[in-house]
Amino acid sequence: TALVDLEELDKKHYLHPTTIPKIHAEQGPKLSFTEGNGIYVKDTKGDEYIDGLSMLWNVNLGHGNQELANTAKEQMTKLAFSSSFAGYSNEPAVRLAEKMTSMAPGDLNAVFYTSGGSESNDTAFKLSRFYWSMKGKPEKKKIISLKQGYHGVTIAAQTATAIPLFHQFSSSGISDVFHAKPHLTDCELGGRSHPDYEGSIRDIVEKEGADTIAAVIVEPVQGSGGVHMPPDGYLEAVRKLCDEFGILFIADEVICGFGRTGKMFGVDNWDVVPDLMCVAKGISSGYSQLGGVLIKQEIRDTLVQYDQVLAHGFTYSGHPTACAVALKNIEILERDEVVANVKSMEHELNAGFEYLKDKHPTVTKTRALGLLAGFELYKDRDEEIPFDSSILPSTEVVEECFNRKLILRPLASQVGRNIVAIAPPLIINKRQVEDMVAIIDDSISDFEKKHL
Ligand code: PLP
Repeated sequence: TALVDLEELDKKHYLHPTTIPKIHAEQGPKLSFTEGNGIYVKDTKGDEYIDGLSMLWNVNLGHGNQELANTAKEQMTKLAFSSSFAGYSNEPAVRLAEKMTSMAPGDLNAVFYTSGGSESNDTAFKLSRFYWSMKGKPEKKKIISLKQGYHGVTIAAQTATAIPLFHQFSSSGISDVFHAKPHLTDCELGGRSHPDYEGSIRDIVEKEGADTIAAVIVEPVQGSGGVHMPPDGYLEAVRKLCDEFGILFIADEVICGFGRTGKMFGVDNWDVVPDLMCVAKGISSGYSQLGGVLIKQEIRDTLVQYDQVLAHGFTYSGHPTACAVALKNIEILERDEVVANVKSMEHELNAGFEYLKDKHPTVTKTRALGLLAGFELYKDRDEEIPFDSSILPSTEVVEECFNRKLILRPLASQVGRNIVAIAPPLIINKRQVEDMVAIIDDSISDFEKKHL
């Protein structure tokens, strides 16, 4: 009864993100979460699910962490909020800035705080353009992102997001954003005779002119676009290209940052140092809404020459409670050697993938960098023949998993909905990885029974 009330109220008053409104308004929520513990979450019916995607790739320390909760309570009791505008500051924001810049690669020595990933990317675009203005090059304002890149939904971030679905919702983006073909290492290194050269970052830079380009933004591993790993050498090639043409390199570490890929930051897998690094999500394991842009020394030194108001910032920039929680989150990551666990669980997951590939003729292209992982489903995996377009393989398999109490996420590739994304909390253990793999195994078996 109370449950029914809640569903009715949800249908009536709550417009959800990335949900089909027509269906939601008729059917109500798929489920409503009430509590969580480690990798598990419970819903209003008391059913327990494995959270195989850390909700939105963000609950890295898992649910129900009392240390994070206590930290929030302590800081809220002391000083829940304070302004960071007009010269005001607070201790957690300062300590977190010092901590993050000490962990970040290279000389990313300053931070601008935001409340999430989209705001971080918008901020990075604005800082890039502002930097070039300060350098006397205001015409350098174009942004290049990668096709299938996901950078958020505020209007600039959404323009950089190059997943067609997100442009259907809101057609008008900002101007001066270009989407390059992803992961073409040879082209970015200068291989003009490569058949894919047209539309590469280098091609766009050459056509538009480097003197009009502010920055290139890249996710170290593409997340929502399909869990696409860059080939080795790719990020280094983009770094080189940016250096060659005098373009800023923005790394969107919103998913990859804070241990997700088995290193503290995604770029650390390739020893690449970006000029600006956007973080959110894992910074606080989702316990507080926080993001930031880490800024390299030379950019910071240029910006501090500005003798007028830096008219950018969010009410929640430098939120003391959010920052205190993030600081504790990082302390736990380090103290409990969580990143090392990610690396060993990557091996367990890969062992599971080998088993799934041996058993299931539809499974291929398994990949994992740390606990950012996925696989693809094809009717004929050797020839990469997709299922008939009336079948949405990853949606079906994810639904089978859901019925078995494992939450995963279906994503689309060029050939349709055939990618399954897996990104459990970083504190997962071997037995729990095995539990997930067993559920995926049974789910694929049912799917194959229906469609092979
Ligand atoms: N960048 C990446 C790589 C993301 O995955 C996301 C969110 O999924 C964002 C940016 C946007 O972050 P937010 O939803 O916190 O605005």
